[in-house]
Amino acid sequence: MKKMQRITVAKGDGIGPEIMDATLSIIKAAGARIEIDEIEIGEKVYLAGNTSGIARESWDVIRRNKVFLKAPITTPQGGGYKSLNVTTRKFLGLYANIRPCISLHPFVKTKHPQMDIVIVRENEEDLYAGIEHQQTDEVVQCLKLISRPGCEKIVRYAFEYARQYGRKKVTCFTKDNIMKQTDGLFHQVFDEIAVEYPDIEHEHWIIDIGAAKMADTPEAFDVIVMPNLYGDVLSDVAAQIAGSVGLAGSANIGETCAMFEAIHGSAPRRAGQNMANPSGLLQGAIQMLTHIGQADVAEKVQNAWLKTIEDGIHTYDIYKEGISTQKVGTKEFAEAVITNLGQQPAQLKAVHYANGTTLTLPAYERKPAKHKELQGVDLFVHWNGKDVNELALLVENLNTADIQLNMITNRGIKVYPDGFPETFCTDHWRCRFKPLAGKQLTKQHIIGLLQAAEAVNIDVIKTENLYAFDGKPAFSLGQGQ
Ligand code: NAD
Repeated sequence: MKKMQRITVAKGDGIGPEIMDATLSIIKAAGARIEIDEIEIGEKVYLAGNTSGIARESWDVIRRNKVFLKAPITTPQGGGYKSLNVTTRKFLGLYANIRPCISLHPFVKTKHPQMDIVIVRENEEDLYAGIEHQQTDEVVQCLKLISRPGCEKIVRYAFEYARQYGRKKVTCFTKDNIMKQTDGLFHQVFDEIAVEYPDIEHEHWIIDIGAAKMADTPEAFDVIVMPNLYGDVLSDVAAQIAGSVGLAGSANIGETCAMFEAIHGSAPRRAGQNMANPSGLLQGAIQMLTHIGQADVAEKVQNAWLKTIEDGIHTYDIYKEGISTQKVGTKEFAEAVITNLGQQPAQLKAVHYANGTTLTLPAYERKPAKHKELQGVDLFVHWNGKDVNELALLVENLNTADIQLNMITNRGIKVYPDGFPETFCTDHWRCRFKPLAGKQLTKQHIIGLLQAAEAVNIDVIKTENLYAFDGKPAFSLGQGQ
């Protein structure tokens, strides 16, 4: 008798309960070895006064079972309700978001009949760390944080996923020609880890041309790994051009816990009418089955589902005269998939998943610390003047014996010395100070600089230290420097 896996299930709102019942009936009929704890999340919980949409005790159940199959929920408008998806991802450290996007041509309309890609999106950091500040009247900022552990975990996940699912190539998308530190690190880690997987082809594309190519010729790609923001945008594009956002499932994977879902919402207008397509959630459940080591069941369900789509048994959202043979409701669709269990599609490509092993990654190990040397400091100043030479005069007077003004930028563009009068300037200025030749900069110099600025009412809004690691400067130059 094979091991049972206890999972947490939430039926959610709107069409959630119907598509969850359909999904569970299919995977149980296929022999899924699961036991279920059900929890309540979403609208009712929000409206009962819990702004996170989930009760404390439900977190305990999710954390105990570690595997969570979640139907879509309705987030009430207004009232400061927090997105449960974002909260779950962050609380449980679900760092990887996996979205397979496969076209089902000619049974579901798409311009890309050969498309079969998987987007692996980093899920926790980048601009989504949510660290934002207003600094001056005119300027707000959002910190883009990219970490080595974050990059290593997601990139390794992409290669391991490729291996587990027999995929041939992993592509990395970044914009490291512009963001040399942040996206540069992501790309660098990708190149380092790719070497450990000689059986899998790897390549890197700059995101803009990569995205254009993906939208035009998706069959050129297999697995694509990318930082959070790009992944968020492009995974929706990929799902849409594959045929329908309503058919896509998604996995959110962490070191200990994982959550599986459909990518669509709760479609409240379709609720309670036995109309909704359960395919998106079913795709999430299939990812769950391989994740818990039940790839045999996952394969059986996926092939039966492909056969059902191929038979033309379609819910209203994908029904097309001439292609579809039967318009069915949620329950009837599930029954058709169950009838097809054990069968393979004839025209669509049947799947074969390697069985048994769950995908486990080595825990991140911190690398030895590099030699870190302070090489300068950027003072960010809120200043309402127009002529940068006036600001330069003010801040040059702050110089101590060992440190001098190196340049001033506005929104990253060098405006002093030798700026262009055409450059548009805001009230947000960066004044970069460097030590004089042969001098060593210390934190005391920075404190002295800040005190001198305060004494003459220069409004310093923040400082950023400039470091070199193992002798390599690790900060960007001013544009035009
Ligand atoms: P939606 O995805 O619920 O619906 C968009 C359109 O797609 C609708 O026309 C709907 O009828 C159709 N549709 C969606 N899923 C379908 C299915 N399985 N079968 C047939 N048709 C389907 O998006 P929305 O209307 O913008 O959002 C509705 C609610 O869902 C909102 O409260 C939103 O916050 C929530 N939402 C939740 C999640 C989640 O829980 N993961 C994700 C997105 C939106």
